[in-house]
Amino acid sequence: MKDQEIKEIKALLSAPKNIVITTHKNPDGDAIGSTLALHQYLSALGHNSVVITPNEYPNFLKWVPCEKSVIKYSNDTKKAILAIEKADLIFTLDFNHLSRTGEMENTLAKAETTFVMIDHHQQPDTYAKYTYSDINMCSTCQMIYHFIEKIGDVDKITPEIATCIYVGIMTDTGSFRFRSTTSTTHRVVADLIDRGADNTTIHERIYDTNTISRLRLKGIALNNLRVLPEFNTAYISISQQELDQNNFKKGDTEGFVNLGLSIDGVKFAVIFIENKGEGIIKISLRSKGDFSVNEFSRNHFEGGGHHNASGGKSNLSLSDTIEKFISILPDYKNVLNQ
Ligand code: 5GP
Ligand code: MN
Repeated sequence: MKDQEIKEIKALLSAPKNIVITTHKNPDGDAIGSTLALHQYLSALGHNSVVITPNEYPNFLKWVPCEKSVIKYSNDTKKAILAIEKADLIFTLDFNHLSRTGEMENTLAKAETTFVMIDHHQQPDTYAKYTYSDINMCSTCQMIYHFIEKIGDVDKITPEIATCIYVGIMTDTGSFRFRSTTSTTHRVVADLIDRGADNTTIHERIYDTNTISRLRLKGIALNNLRVLPEFNTAYISISQQELDQNNFKKGDTEGFVNLGLSIDGVKFAVIFIENKGEGIIKISLRSKGDFSVNEFSRNHFEGGGHHNASGGKSNLSLSDTIEKFISILPDYKNVLNQ
């Protein structure tokens, strides 16, 4: 983001505004952390700010500071539409295309107001007047830190804001291990701890919240794990029936895709999760090294994301989706064997 743009945004924020902050469907730790951090910062500046998510998010995020104020478009559509219609400014965080907001897309597309995008996904769309996009950033939360820093307000980062930002950096970096984790990330995180983020407690609240049924579901995922050694690829599938039999709750399958990637030699891991309600198979893809799962899901599964972490979907049945997946792999044999 250019200095001139920061100047203009600063000018926009110099008088109280109605502000909507929104994020992608099925919000994750980075989506919830970044929206709530920005919300608390803007509220402290005197703005009337609300966070709207397209739908529900997992229970392990239901403690993040200010989380109770979030409006879920799917449950509270009228209230959400009203807030969007009267917004002077709309911040869209942690996504690169309005279609990532699902049912909210039309309402957002109709809003004739100023959009600000802050995001780290590849190939950002151009709907926003101000776009702060950096695909080298580990998380949108780190970008929120830099955004506040550019405005000259790091001292306004409260323990609650620091906690929100920490949540998104921690979850999007796989606890500071992915390649996107830089020395700057660690410096930002150190500053967040100094400003009151309680790192041990945050880890516990996000990661030590398993239910017995979630652990059983993980057992099923491991049982269904298949390895294709000739492609250094592993995949997992979970059917709707398996979800139902294990009291599935949103977020229960979070991170399961990484089980495949933890196998020695595996460079490409995928999970296929049947969603009968939406009539789709939701797909998560992860890779190590040069193989781009962003391209792979863009080309074959109506998705996208990052170089090493992406998502997509399929309208075929679970078994046909897997069959399609396996039939594509020979085209990538060389890059998967490098
Ligand atoms: P996850 O597998 O954790 O749902 O998503 C991994 C990454 O891919 C996230 O950064 C997410 O924003 C992106 N992603 C997930 N699903 C989709 C999708 O259907 N379309 C696009 N363009 N990106 C997705
Ligand atoms: Mn993110």
